[in-house]
Amino acid sequence: MIERHIDENWRIRCRLCPRKCGVNRMNGEYGRCRMGEKVRVSRASLHMWEEPCITGEGGSGTVFFTGCSLGCVYCQNHEIAKGEGGLEVSEEELAGIFLDLQERGAENINLVTAAHFVPPVVDALERSRSRGLRIPVVYNSSGYELPDTLRDLEQRVDVFLPDFKYMDPDLAQRYSGAPDYPQTAALALAEMVRQRGRCVFDERGMMRSGVIVRLLLLPGHVRDACRVLDYLHSTYGDDIYISIMNQYTPVGAPKEDPLLNRRVTEREYDRLISHALSIGIENAFIQEGETAEESFIPSFRDEGETQLREFLNRSGEARAREQFPVLKEEEE
Ligand code: SF4
Repeated sequence: MIERHIDENWRIRCRLCPRKCGVNRMNGEYGRCRMGEKVRVSRASLHMWEEPCITGEGGSGTVFFTGCSLGCVYCQNHEIAKGEGGLEVSEEELAGIFLDLQERGAENINLVTAAHFVPPVVDALERSRSRGLRIPVVYNSSGYELPDTLRDLEQRVDVFLPDFKYMDPDLAQRYSGAPDYPQTAALALAEMVRQRGRCVFDERGMMRSGVIVRLLLLPGHVRDACRVLDYLHSTYGDDIYISIMNQYTPVGAPKEDPLLNRRVTEREYDRLISHALSIGIENAFIQEGETAEESFIPSFRDEGETQLREFLNRSGEARAREQFPVLKEEEE
């Protein structure tokens, strides 16, 4: 039996995510995620458009959970995130959904935005493993997570697939109502990397273990996206993969925001990719043409390798605390 870190009373005083609402989810009270105690699933299907090492030939077995504790104003899945629709399922039924996706040829089980349901999802994973689930489990996340909650996923999740949305707290406040997003996501990522370490692929190029961080470029915000890349690469180097996405679509964005009501331009995306190249990112996926591993050229390897290794040998959590002074203050 693997140790659990989540308070067993989470249903009556929910503090599963950084919102720490403290609501009684058994008693009709709703926190920021707008979800009760029962798992609610919006969709379960084979998805062919994830990163190639997740999609493979069979497709990724995505399970979309209803609700979201972050709630970005430009959410690309806004109907699901708002808590609309979906079906309530028991842990046993959820285990059955996982097994059904495996039966249909899924390369993995891809848990999309499950932060507000981690304890029942863990139960369902244990049930499905004991009933024959063999494929890897991917945890697809907004990045706004608590390390203690993530610890319950240790040895249960094989690949973490978090977003890293902002470095600027003002932007995080304006678009997600979460000025603490940068440091919170940094600590969450540190925990994910601690659990999975460097990426491991099988002979078919499918990721069996590791972390891929997604960066969705927002229109008009190339500078902040460059800062995200700087942080990710200086902290984790080649230990993680970065998926640099240009697919932003203005659905549900507030009409009064002129930036969010357009798509990302080619020039903006090119600037971000040029920045990735200039800082030496090699392990990346881009969304134009083929995946980008071959086209990313190392620029610092020879002279910087020793320094970089020393840097990487320190824990991701220590580096997150260095980067975000507010975390240092909390520690003291
Ligand atoms: S999971 Fe939902 S209810 Fe619980 S703390 Fe987070 S937002 Fe609040």
